[in-house]
Amino acid sequence: MVTEQHQSLRAAFSGRLWVEPADMASFVTDWRGKWTGHAWAVVQPDTPEDVARVMRWCHEARVPVVPQGGNTGLSGGSTPDGSGRSVVLSLTRLQKVRQVDIQNNTITVDAGLTLLALQEAAAAAGRLFPLSLAAEGSCTIGGNLASNAGGVQVLRYGNARELCLGLEVVTAEGELWNGLRGLRKDNTGYDLRDLYIGSEGTLGIITGATLKLFPQPASQIVACVALSTPAQAIELLSLAQSRLGAGLTAFELMSDACLALVEKHVPGTRFPFGDRSPWYVLVELSSEQSDAVATAHFEALLEQAFEQDLIVDAAVSSNLSQFEALWALRENISEAQGAEGKTIKHDISLPASRIAEFIESTGAAVGAQSPLVRLVVFGHLGDGNLHYNLSPAAGASGNDFAALEPAMNQLVHDAVHALGGSISAEHGLGVLRRDESARYKSSIELKLMHRIKQALDPLGLMNPGKLLA
Ligand code: FAD
Repeated sequence: MVTEQHQSLRAAFSGRLWVEPADMASFVTDWRGKWTGHAWAVVQPDTPEDVARVMRWCHEARVPVVPQGGNTGLSGGSTPDGSGRSVVLSLTRLQKVRQVDIQNNTITVDAGLTLLALQEAAAAAGRLFPLSLAAEGSCTIGGNLASNAGGVQVLRYGNARELCLGLEVVTAEGELWNGLRGLRKDNTGYDLRDLYIGSEGTLGIITGATLKLFPQPASQIVACVALSTPAQAIELLSLAQSRLGAGLTAFELMSDACLALVEKHVPGTRFPFGDRSPWYVLVELSSEQSDAVATAHFEALLEQAFEQDLIVDAAVSSNLSQFEALWALRENISEAQGAEGKTIKHDISLPASRIAEFIESTGAAVGAQSPLVRLVVFGHLGDGNLHYNLSPAAGASGNDFAALEPAMNQLVHDAVHALGGSISAEHGLGVLRRDESARYKSSIELKLMHRIKQALDPLGLMNPGKLLA
């Protein structure tokens, strides 16, 4: 029902306002349907100035705000709580490519531009914007920055934070700050940009960004290699880093259980080897040189790996369709695991030097704790980031398996913490990991985080209950 207060908000900005539950439904439930809340209104401003007007109105009226991009986040950060008091502020109508500066290798865009549209704008200018993840057709660059997204090429280009040079932000009070600097060096005090990146909408609203561009590679090759242990995968990573240098753009680990699920659930999947191995790694080389030169480099790497008994087999792409088929093995794991029923997921990171130890000891501890669990382990090994996931073992009931989630989370996250790792490598904290994170951070770190929140959002209106309790 439209109230007087809704009309007052309506008068404050141009763009769209939704107040009926049916119109708001897709904004109050996340992409996976895991979190559903209620909103007092959903707004879709047309310009950064409009965003500032909405924020000034909400600040004045003491109404909480939930910023939202593509709503593809996996930690419950982009949807409102159940109180029905919040405004969901959707950025998806802010879609302009504002400027491409070829000489500076930068692009400046609105925060609501999808990651895919941003990649396409960079490609049209003959450049590469390297952030890439499976939700790229729907997620927005503002959401990528607010959650400091990772993806498959962090190893070479860094995560969203490292790709961003400048931000435009609307503060919790509704002021528009233009920090769209295309500078690679700027030592002029506290880095506000870095505060807003990764803040999951709890400090302010990102409305625009200036991002780094890179040369497009002339050739790309991928190999799927079979190996016996995660320790060999880590040794292969060191070898590939020393032989391929900056050309090594992805290094993804997959257990045999992952590939078996992809074969089972994704039609058209072709297993690339005659025999099965316990582990596989997808290694990608992107090169400024010709296909022939890149292939020769790649083959020399694989030859040395065979000689050192690090790998038992390798399938190398020699054309685009083989390249895509090998990548599909990795990209389809999440979907294939979902087809098996309930999953318990952990997005963790560790120093590369501790990963083999973690996989061995935690696998044994999980098995000892419950026979109802099957491990589905894969991830961005080159960045030390594992998706350490669990599925029900054969014959286990979904309910019995689901009841194990709190104990399994604690077991896995305690092991990660003990080895110097993080319980959220790239998906953020949202509501999913908020309370667990407080268990592993020191009291000093938590105190400083609360002080930052208090300084930038004194009324506590920005995405309340997310990231910090
Ligand atoms: P949303 O989900 O809308 O929001 C995410 C968070 O950012 C929320 O807290 C929200 O309040 C805040 N926010 C959004 N926009 C703004 C803004 N403009 N200003 C301030 N705060 C804002 N993530 C990875 O890191 N790596 C992956 O490989 C990866 N793969 C994925 C694959 C699939 C199939 C899916 C569904 C998700 C995947 N994700 C991955 C998670 C997700 O896509 C990313 O976290 C993405 O960066 C979220 O962008 P979004 O625009 O959808 O943000």
